Amino acid sequence: MPLKVNLRHLEDNELRLEGELPAAELELGLKDDMCRADKPLNYDLEIQEMEKEILVQGSLTLPLQCECVRCLKTFEYVLELPNWTVLLPLEGEEKTPIDNDCVDLTPYVREDILLEFPQHPLCETECRGLPVKQGKAKKATKTGDSNQEPSAWSELDKLKLK
Ligand SMILES: [Zn+2]
Repeated sequence: MPLKVNLRHLEDNELRLEGELPAAELELGLKDDMCRADKPLNYDLEIQEMEKEILVQGSLTLPLQCECVRCLKTFEYVLELPNWTVLLPLEGEEKTPIDNDCVDLTPYVREDILLEFPQHPLCETECRGLPVKQGKAKKATKTGDSNQEPSAWSELDKLKLK
């Protein structure tokens, strides 16, 4: 079921839309492998018709499978938009496309979900990264983490130089 609002059902009363949207239909078009969306998006939305626009309010939840940028561990990250709101104009230049009395909410959901995507997913905020070889371990500093990010790549670089 695509995430669509039938405007005819909206004429006299508010609509509540609750359900799941398969990740495939959300078409996030993710390019990197840092985060994947395999599970469906959960939505719970209230829709009202105003004079010249439609107001959609509610919550969106999408579980993601992310790879920690520091230790490469895979973990689940739940992306939540508890107070998602979108206003869809029914008139004017920005008019929302209507197809058979239906407005497809998917593009709006997709846009806002993508904006909230974690840019640097961490399995936990204190993640110390890949295990450092014994004896070499540095003490983590409280500010900044540039000097603890290191190892894997710099080790690889050394190997390449040989
Ligand atoms: Zn980690």
